[in-house]
Amino acid sequence: MDLLTFRTDLDAWIETNRAQLTPVEAGEGTLAGQLAHLAIVKKLAYDADFGRYGWPERVGGLGGAPIYRALLGERLTAEGFVQPGGWSMTEVLAPTMIDFASPGLAAEVVPLLLSGAEHWCQGFSEPGTGSNLAALSCKAVQTDDGWLVNGQKVWTSHAQLSDRCVLLTRTGTRESAHRGITALFVDMDTPGITVRPIETQHGVDEFCEVFFEDVLVPDARRLGEVGGGWAVAMDLLPYERSTALWHRGAFVHRRFVDLLGDAEPDALDPRSVGEVAMKLFALRAVSRGTQYRISAGDRLGAETSVDKLLLGLTEQAVYDLVADGLADRVVAGEDPASRRWRSEFLYSRAATIYGGTSEIQRNVLARRVLGLGEES
Ligand SMILES: Cc1cc2nc3c(=O)[nH]c(=O)nc-3n(C[C@H](O)[C@H](O)[C@H](O)COP(=O)(O)OP(=O)(O)OC[C@H]3O[C@@H](n4cnc5c(N)ncnc54)[C@H](O)[C@@H]3O)c2cc1C
Repeated sequence: MDLLTFRTDLDAWIETNRAQLTPVEAGEGTLAGQLAHLAIVKKLAYDADFGRYGWPERVGGLGGAPIYRALLGERLTAEGFVQPGGWSMTEVLAPTMIDFASPGLAAEVVPLLLSGAEHWCQGFSEPGTGSNLAALSCKAVQTDDGWLVNGQKVWTSHAQLSDRCVLLTRTGTRESAHRGITALFVDMDTPGITVRPIETQHGVDEFCEVFFEDVLVPDARRLGEVGGGWAVAMDLLPYERSTALWHRGAFVHRRFVDLLGDAEPDALDPRSVGEVAMKLFALRAVSRGTQYRISAGDRLGAETSVDKLLLGLTEQAVYDLVADGLADRVVAGEDPASRRWRSEFLYSRAATIYGGTSEIQRNVLARRVLGLGEES
C-alpha cells in the first residue's frame, strides 16, 4: 500500500472507530486505565492491519517501511487516543527483539506486543547505575537449567502491569564492564520476581523497583551473545532516543495547540509563544528526518542524542508556557482539565532524565559524534 492510500484509509478507519479509540475519562489518570485502553487501541489497529504495516512478516507484520508505524503512532498520540509513553514502548523494545531474539522466539512473542495482548518493560537502570549503565550489577549465573538472576532494577516503567521484561544482567566481572553484560527476556510471572511501584511527583505509579531472587530464565530467552548485552543496549537506546520521541513530540505539539485555546490571550507573551513554536518545529524536523532514516534502513546511533536533547528542551519549554499562561489552574485548579495540566507540567520535568539525562546526551554527542575525547 502506498503512503497516501495508507493515510486516507487510516483517516477513514479513525472516523469509523472514534468512539472505541477514545479513552474512557475515568481511567485516563491511572496507569492501569491507560494501559488497558492502550491494549484495546493496539488490538483494534492490529486487527484492521494498520498496526501491522512497517513490521516484518516474520513477526506478524505486513512488511513495508517503518514510516507506516510512524504515521500510525503520530495520529494516535496526537489525537489523544493513546499516551505516547505506552505506545512507544513497542517501538523501543520490538525492533531490538527482532534483531537479537532467536527467530522462533521473536515470531512467538513480538505479535503479542504488537496486537496489545501483552505489555513489556525495560529493565536497565539500577540503584546507582542509571547514567553509568555499564556498571550494572544485577547478576545472572549460568546453570544447567538456564540463568539464575539475583539483583535489583529501578525506575522500570510499567513493570507492575507488564508480562515480560528486556533485562540487562551482569554475567562477567564488574571490571569487564561493557563486555560482561548479557541481555535476557524474562517472563514477569517467574517465581522470585517482586515488583514495587513508585509514585512519581505527578501522582502516577509510572515506574517500579523490581527485585530478582533466584529467578530462573531459560537460555533460549537470551538475547544476543553471552557477554553481548552491551550491543543489545546500544541497539535499543537509539530507538528510545528517537522513535519514542516522535510520538511524544506529536503529543506535546497537540497540547501546545490546546494551551493556545485554553489560556486567556493576554496571559501568554507572544514572543515566548513564537520561541516555543520554533522549538516544536525544530524537534519535529529532526525527528522526522530520523523516521525517514529508519525507513531507509539506516542504523541509528549516537546522533539520536540530538533528538533526545531537543525533546527535553522543547517539552519543558511548552510546559513552562503552560505554567505562565494557566498559572492559577496549574497551581491550584481542581477541575479535571486543570489537574491534567498540573500533572503534565510535573511530568515534563522528567523529559531531561528518562532515556538518558541531557547531560549524558551532551557527553555522547561531544565524545562520539564530535570526537572531543575518549569515553571514560
Ligand atoms: C519517567 C522515567 C521513566 C524511566 N523508565 C525507565 C525504564 O523503563 N527502564 C529503565 O531501565 N530506566 C528507566 N528510567 C531511568 C532513567 O534511564 C535514569 O533515571 C537515567 O538514565 C538517569 O540515571 P539515574 O536516575 O541513576 O541518575 P544518575 O545517573 O545518578 O544522575 C544524577 C545526575 O548526575 C548527572 N550525571 C551523571 N553522570 C554524569 C556524567 N558522566 N557527566 C555529567 N553529568 C552526569 C546526571 O545527568 C543527573 O543530572 C526512567 C526514568 C524516568 C524519569
